[in-house]
Amino acid sequence: MRFSFIIALKVFLFCTISVALKAQQAGIILVIDPGHGGTDPGKAKVSKSMKHEKDINLAIALRFGEYIHHNLPEVKVLYTRTTDVFVSLEGRVEFSNKHDATYFISIHANSSPNVQAHGTEVHIHSHKMPASEQWAKILEDELGKKANRHNRGTLDARDRGRNLFVVQRPKVPSILVETGYLTNKEEEAFLNTGEGQAIIASALYRAFKRFSNIKIQPEVRDKVYRVQIMASKTKIAIQSSVFEELDDYKVEEIENLNATNGYRYKYLIGYEYDQDAAWQLAKKVVKLGYKGAFVIQVKNE
Ligand SMILES: [Zn+2]
Repeated sequence: MRFSFIIALKVFLFCTISVALKAQQAGIILVIDPGHGGTDPGKAKVSKSMKHEKDINLAIALRFGEYIHHNLPEVKVLYTRTTDVFVSLEGRVEFSNKHDATYFISIHANSSPNVQAHGTEVHIHSHKMPASEQWAKILEDELGKKANRHNRGTLDARDRGRNLFVVQRPKVPSILVETGYLTNKEEEAFLNTGEGQAIIASALYRAFKRFSNIKIQPEVRDKVYRVQIMASKTKIAIQSSVFEELDDYKVEEIENLNATNGYRYKYLIGYEYDQDAAWQLAKKVVKLGYKGAFVIQVKNE
């Protein structure tokens, strides 16, 4: 009697926990973004028997999505592409935002002039973005310890010295994984096999499962801080010499048809979720001669 009570209790607890996990995963929309495609091969193959980066990215992405589909059916998986087509970076982020994604992951393979370079990397926008950082750390663990890859760590924009559009711009926690170096003979061979692709896809799956089961720290991405370089009543070409000191930054023109003061065109750089980072950028460009630069807050869209 007592024995069967314990069994019943265990069954009850198991069911309660799995229902709770399902509840946590219900409503999750995961956007999987296979890097490159179509006219953009990514790292192009150097030998006939191997594949371009774009094809490896797609194969891993589809496997990863399949594993989720079978094992975590509560999670809805959407792909930015499922065939060999070109999709712009803006198009990938727009897709994610338009479909109200919960999480975004981009899949790539690395390359380097140094043929010895090898291993996996995870990229995020900032170590200060808590959910992206949590997900990246779990993925590092799965790739390093379980999938036995050489783990090169998690890098943010500061570590890299540049922004990555697909982890910077989505409205939700976003990571990019470099699954290995196609310029390294061993990793190139590994990533070209179905087995190698399955090992990576399994690590991506296990990491996502673990991540979606923990208490995820909220990541606020609905507002961004940008640096306004100048405003103008008439259009200024982005290539114009006015902006020539800003070669390292992507100057964007925003047109406001309702500007009451007539200054319809605003020229902005930077895209930060952290106000301090935006002010640091503003100080830099003031030193470059753009004396009127200041920080504005806008919606992330
Ligand atoms: Zn790539």
